[in-house]
Amino acid sequence: MNEFEIIKQYFTGHSGRKDVIMGPGDDCALLQMPPNTTLAVSTDTLVADVHFFADMDPVALGHRALAVNLSDLAAMGADPCWVSLALTLPKADETWIRGFCEGFFELAEYYNVALVGGDMTRGPLSITVTVHGSLPEGKGLRRHGARAGDGIYVTGTLGDAALGLQQQLGNIAVSESHLAFVRNKFEHPHPRILAGQALRDIASSALDLSDGLLGDLGHITRASNVRAVLEMEQLPLSQAMTDTVEQERAWQLALTGGDDYELCFTVPEVHRGQLETALAHCGVKFTRIGRMVAGEAGVELMADGKPYKLEAKSWDHFRSGE
Ligand code: ADP
Ligand code: MG
Repeated sequence: MNEFEIIKQYFTGHSGRKDVIMGPGDDCALLQMPPNTTLAVSTDTLVADVHFFADMDPVALGHRALAVNLSDLAAMGADPCWVSLALTLPKADETWIRGFCEGFFELAEYYNVALVGGDMTRGPLSITVTVHGSLPEGKGLRRHGARAGDGIYVTGTLGDAALGLQQQLGNIAVSESHLAFVRNKFEHPHPRILAGQALRDIASSALDLSDGLLGDLGHITRASNVRAVLEMEQLPLSQAMTDTVEQERAWQLALTGGDDYELCFTVPEVHRGQLETALAHCGVKFTRIGRMVAGEAGVELMADGKPYKLEAKSWDHFRSGE
């Protein structure tokens, strides 16, 4: 099959969205935005052996490539609409492409996202996805809105994807009963689309956790010019995590392990009640892990009422290669 046959066979005809005037097959896609909306756009590239193992299951990779991009829309509170896909493949391996499409389109269909175009080139395996979402005009969860006094929250549990990665690298042994869970956290991240939308009128700032809580929350503190104080005991840890490693290491993974794709957000005290209701409605677990205070931008860690210091050596060791 040549490039055009592959595109026709595998990458077209998946969506019936009416706002796609022209999908794959012309020079550009033509897309109709509803009135009074703002377009939210984000791109992420996954490179083999940098962001994933080249022999990773293509079904999981297809899911992951779209999921990490949708996570950015979630962090903005946007509704996902369209996606474009640039694939660089070492060879036209149809079994691989079929698997990739299975994972990719399963997630795309779940969120009613239409693939509207892309590119195919030959070269070292790499995947670039650009997602487009819509927001009501004037909305969008940005990083600069946090204020002293706001609570800091995260969805889900932290560090599980990093635990899965360390298990795969042979650095940490995970018991049989937790293996599927931690592997799945790395391979099948679930973008928090509904939670992001529910937070639109509640959160003062938000982002998704891709590089680890400590670094990512640092972005909010700098953009907002506030200081974060985290209570280590409040960090939400999974059963798999607490059963597998001792507390110090669990905290390291939760703070510095990447690839969680949970949301981290801040909420003014006056919206606390609303928050409970909104996130209960979409069935997403969330935890208050600290608060913003006035002061120099940065993240302060407290354990047992005292300042807590992460061991620098372990921090480096667990830092994922970006
Ligand atoms: P051009 O040379 O004009 O950039 P291409 O030959 O790269 O066009 O692509 C032809 C058409 O196929 C375009 O509409 C493009 O969006 C679409 N396309 C190419 N690769 C993909 C892909 N992986 N998924 C979806 N559409 C694709
Ligand atoms: Mg092209």
